[in-house]
Amino acid sequence: MSRAEPGAPSGATKRRRPRPRPAITHDNDFFWKGVQAGKLLIQRCSCGRLRHPPGPMCPVCHSLEWDSLEASGRGSVYSFVVAHHPPIPPFEYPNLIVLVELAEGTRIVSNLRSVDPAEVAVGMPVQAEFVELEEGRSFLQFEPIRSGRDEE
Ligand code: ZN
Repeated sequence: MSRAEPGAPSGATKRRRPRPRPAITHDNDFFWKGVQAGKLLIQRCSCGRLRHPPGPMCPVCHSLEWDSLEASGRGSVYSFVVAHHPPIPPFEYPNLIVLVELAEGTRIVSNLRSVDPAEVAVGMPVQAEFVELEEGRSFLQFEPIRSGRDEE
């Protein structure tokens, strides 16, 4: 197997592959627009129950009526996995994937950044960040809330 030499005119092969795009539906369009606007919007049923990922119907009361709530972005690690293999571009490895329990009471899957995977623990407090991982496109990520960091 041959590899391109550094500096070789490899053109497009050196360009970073873009992250997969979400499948936009009538139900989740608000969520993805929120991410681009730097807001974490969670679907809220007319009965008050929050749900994520967004869907057409409340699993509890079966209502089709909903609006959205802007979440604080604060939460804690409910569960996590550190993916090492197989490496799938453009994701960075080890890929730290977390299930975050939001302060508002629903859960969301995302990436956790700015932390050594060995330091991650269930219950770790985290905060949503909107990171421009690609030019002109923001992605929802989480970072640990470190005590003292907000007191600068
Ligand atoms: Zn409901």
